Amino acid sequence: VIITLVRQPHPSHSCLQTHTHSDTHHRHLAMEAKTFAYSPYSNFRVGAALLTSDGTVFTGCNVDNACYNLGICAERNAISKAVSEGHRKFKAIAIASDMEYQYISPCGGCRQFMREFGLDWEVYMTKLEGSFVKRMVEDLLPESFGPQNLKEGVIPVKNRN
Ligand SMILES: [Zn+2]
Repeated sequence: VIITLVRQPHPSHSCLQTHTHSDTHHRHLAMEAKTFAYSPYSNFRVGAALLTSDGTVFTGCNVDNACYNLGICAERNAISKAVSEGHRKFKAIAIASDMEYQYISPCGGCRQFMREFGLDWEVYMTKLEGSFVKRMVEDLLPESFGPQNLKEGVIPVKNRN
């Protein structure tokens, strides 16, 4: 079942207000992270805000490289920052770009990167003005290959059947 929610941004939201980790604030952090994007070649700024199960938020931006292949996406940047500080359980990731008419959608590589840490967490794909579509990781990468498959794969062939 794919659940799609589309909402308008909260009209009075300001990051200067006292806040909890509300959905709105979470998405706003992704927009802020976007401003740090290093994108001289792609000219495509992306920001991500990853909410861990304990309420910590890690942000990330895309980082281009003169060797184009080496650039990294905002989502993988944020996930790597979280993992490198001991976090592996995630509730949600919000993604922001400068696209006005399309929701920013994570690339296939980032979907796989998300899937490594579970299928049952939320992905908020936003437009520039703040509206969004919500999907679960599993919706974005159905019938995926993950850690459990690899465990099964290491059983020696001779011991199968
Ligand atoms: Zn990506």
